[in-house]
Amino acid sequence: MAGHQVTPPSGSSGSSGPSEPSAWSGKNITVAGLGVSGISAARALAGLGARVTVVDGGDSPQLRERAAGLEADGIAVRLGDAETLPEGTELVVTSPGWKPSSPLFAAAAEAGVDVVGDVEIAWRLRGENGRKPAAWLAVTGTNGKTTTVQMLASILKAAGLRTRAVGNIGTPIIDVVLGDEEYDVLAVELSSYQLHWAPSVRAHSGAVLNLAPDHLDWHGSMKAYAADKGRIYEGNQVACVYNAADPATEHLVRQADVEEGCRAIGFTLGAPGPSMLGVVEGILVDRAFVEDRRTTAQELAEVSDVKPAAPHNVANALAAAALARAFGVEPQAVRDGLRAFRPDAHRIAHVADVAGVAYVDDSKATNTHAAEASLAAYESIVWIAGGLAKGATFDTLVTKAAKRLRGVVLIGADRAVIAEALARHAPDVPVVDLDRTDTGAMAEAVREAARLAGPGDTVLMAPACASMDMFTDYNKRGEAFAEAVRDLAGQEPGGAGA
Ligand code: ADP
Repeated sequence: MAGHQVTPPSGSSGSSGPSEPSAWSGKNITVAGLGVSGISAARALAGLGARVTVVDGGDSPQLRERAAGLEADGIAVRLGDAETLPEGTELVVTSPGWKPSSPLFAAAAEAGVDVVGDVEIAWRLRGENGRKPAAWLAVTGTNGKTTTVQMLASILKAAGLRTRAVGNIGTPIIDVVLGDEEYDVLAVELSSYQLHWAPSVRAHSGAVLNLAPDHLDWHGSMKAYAADKGRIYEGNQVACVYNAADPATEHLVRQADVEEGCRAIGFTLGAPGPSMLGVVEGILVDRAFVEDRRTTAQELAEVSDVKPAAPHNVANALAAAALARAFGVEPQAVRDGLRAFRPDAHRIAHVADVAGVAYVDDSKATNTHAAEASLAAYESIVWIAGGLAKGATFDTLVTKAAKRLRGVVLIGADRAVIAEALARHAPDVPVVDLDRTDTGAMAEAVREAARLAGPGDTVLMAPACASMDMFTDYNKRGEAFAEAVRDLAGQEPGGAGA
């Protein structure tokens, strides 16, 4: 490894910085997609004097209603055509979900018109409201982004900084950047889609938590997906944070073009080397942002301060701590921030103990990488899995988890592909294959899991699949699980504690 210094600076590597207010006035901008981020971009740009047209391929009553709202404010909307570029377009602002192969972008390329996303616009609009722009601490990765930015925001708050978790996480980033509230620093969650469309974003510091195949249909290849994730490091000023257990993330750091003096900072669940954060005897320690990193380490927090203290989540906490420390936050605030943090629902949420068995809802584990992390967190597991596999294979996951599986209950459309992997790599593990997709299916899955489990076991609903074959979304799937567990607890003699 080439020490802690990242590659030399690029000098003027294309950073556009904040634009002059006049730059937007009268500019013809096409916004692709009439969703939350499209509406936010359209309103913001129209507010700065741009001539905005929003285009969307759909044409439903709901879209018409949204269109009417925008048209009332002087924003043009074209429904039912997502392909042709409106005449005179000078810039296309796309919503993150639109594939790079969309015909509209081919039309833009032909006309020599740039395509960017809402995050890029937010970056260019920093300071447009006359306020000092906040620094960005940016997080991406296949899994753990939301959790990590929330931990980060909690730590920054504990340090007394004015901050907010933004990006791929709810409130459109443009609204926060242009809003009335002033922030010192933003904890920015960036999806690979958003990074793809954000060529000039230059975060203070950035982190890639992990890299596993996901959304490959959108990006075209693993290489393209990784390259988009790696954009988060471009132009970093203080730290590029990588996962020492995932060499692909470190590789992206090496390829990045950063500001002079920017350092590569690793995080590890083991003892950290110099310029790393890690864990020593149950303590999160920092050997990166200390006076003498060769001989000293700074205690930050205890593993038990991290909720839940599952290994992958401790890794998330270390990444959040690294970004906060890069921003100059004191160790005490890292500990206080982690203690104050509460994970969102359906992410390794302990629902109840019934008859000595723990029931855990990790409905958010919608891909195999996430499920693998949660399966690694328990010793003896009855696993509820299945749903829409999105083309994934399960051999690696099952091989790694086999020793800890006491039983498996399969639900959903793509049960067969998981069943086959289990037959190959865990032939002795009992499997219940539930051939029903009605609303009662989850309750039956929980009853079957209860039958397979014994005291000390964990029934873990970490499906490794998307939920839409049986539920509206992963929230509904998690709620169905929790309800079924509560029913089970209610049937226990004397009930059960949560
Ligand atoms: P994202 O915002 O990237 O989707 P979340 O924080 O919402 O990430 O977590 C999504 C799922 O990924 C959860 O089910 C969780 O168990 C799992 N997960 C969280 N952090 C990690 C990690 N560092 N490595 C692997 N899986 C993780």
